[in-house]
Amino acid sequence: MRKLTIAAVALASTAFTGPVSADGHGHAKISDSKVELTVHMHHKRYTSYDESWPVEVAACEMTNVCLKNATIGSNTKNSGEAMNLLLASGKIPDIVGTSRIKDVVNQYGPQGAFMPLNDLIDEHAPHLKAYFDERPNVRSALTAADGNMYYIPYLPDGKYGRAFWMRTDWLDKLGLDVPQTVEEYENALRAFRDGDPNGNGLKDEVPYFARQWEEVIRLVTLFGGRSSGSDTYHDFMVEDGQIKHPYAETGYRDGIKGLARWYAEGLIDAEVFTRGSSAREYLLSENLGGATHDWFASTSGYNRLSKDIPGFEFKAIAPPANVNGERFEEHRRIPIKPDGWAIGGMNKDPVTTIKYFDFWFSPEGRRLVNFGIEGEQYDVVNGEAIFKPEFLDAGPVNSQLYQIGAQLHARGYFQDYKYEIQWSNEFALEGIALYDEGDYLIDQFLGVAFNVDEQAVYDKHWPSIRTYMLERQQAWILGSGDVEADWDSYTAELEKMGLSKVLSAMQSAYERQYNS
Ligand code: CA
Repeated sequence: MRKLTIAAVALASTAFTGPVSADGHGHAKISDSKVELTVHMHHKRYTSYDESWPVEVAACEMTNVCLKNATIGSNTKNSGEAMNLLLASGKIPDIVGTSRIKDVVNQYGPQGAFMPLNDLIDEHAPHLKAYFDERPNVRSALTAADGNMYYIPYLPDGKYGRAFWMRTDWLDKLGLDVPQTVEEYENALRAFRDGDPNGNGLKDEVPYFARQWEEVIRLVTLFGGRSSGSDTYHDFMVEDGQIKHPYAETGYRDGIKGLARWYAEGLIDAEVFTRGSSAREYLLSENLGGATHDWFASTSGYNRLSKDIPGFEFKAIAPPANVNGERFEEHRRIPIKPDGWAIGGMNKDPVTTIKYFDFWFSPEGRRLVNFGIEGEQYDVVNGEAIFKPEFLDAGPVNSQLYQIGAQLHARGYFQDYKYEIQWSNEFALEGIALYDEGDYLIDQFLGVAFNVDEQAVYDKHWPSIRTYMLERQQAWILGSGDVEADWDSYTAELEKMGLSKVLSAMQSAYERQYNS
């Protein structure tokens, strides 16, 4: 067991009263003289901090606070391994940024390895404070069991993630309207199977496919069930203030029953559990795939195939009404990621550090982290950052931005959806407008931070329960066992394995975190 006891730092002694303002006119200097802070930054995409990233060079010039790389474990892509090495070293840098930082800081922050941020934000970080004041649920979601906040997350912007997609040209060819109900959706999949919409004389169409097999389970929503409470697969959910697990609910049972039938009838890709991440690319470009549930921006891009496949049109359709007449989209972007950065417990200048964190939430810092450098990646047009056409043409926008140090998820920042809309095509924008108009998104579970006792209950019971749930789920869909006949023994087994203990632990964490 790691034990970290780090003396509290006298915050007042280092209080800095340099000019801090961010009115968009380049007065973001935090300190009159240059201040250096050490940083551990680890993400599978970039396993160390790069002082030469153009965004970092600009931030250093703008704020006079400059980061020095002190990342441990850069030779591994695994951020968790790197974090273990860092903690074991006992030398926590001034700033620690990593993917999946949430559980680490919530566990080791109260022991002194990371600084509580609440007072620092209230006193020295006006932009962060304004962000949290406007979003009390986000503040609650970030709060550890001891009532403190220990990290500033990467905060995605935009609401919409995945949608139902269909070959609408195939629907036209088969004389079908866009399906509005689960029955019509099933009929359309059946028509794709039987009607040879790709016109090659073979019964080779794959009606519903998915890059992630979990997107088959997602379809339980069409039968009155749920597959997850958040953007993480198989997650818990909240219903009327109660924590539940979707896979222990009867709507899920009915959904699995329906999907087992669809699978047996060939309406779902027979290889869906094994085909993997290339499924979308392969089945669409081979003119075989009919429908899926996937991301707006990347899926809409496949309409470029109309150059090679005459008439090809793959459009987002509104979620079909389920067996109870409800239309909703279960997936949405989560507003808070478990990735971000924190202040190390040994940091000698936490006030300057929180001001530096705050810079990234100021208008000019937020523009820098989202769009890169003015004149390089973007120009300002009517007060808005607009990517240069040559930058948009040069390849995937997000990859290009990562290369200059923008949009890094191991930093705490607030994404600006305007960065993404500039490279979303007309099909994505049309689909998003459709989902917006229908108001199909539902509330999501933002997670809990356990205390020590709750964590112990969760760790003892949950992993084996989850494994059992997923084993049964796949077996039922593949036709081994009958979910209806097995349901009572399944729920009895979940109970025996400790599901209600896990739910109670989550419930107490949830109430402490969100009801106070
Ligand atoms: Ca065919």
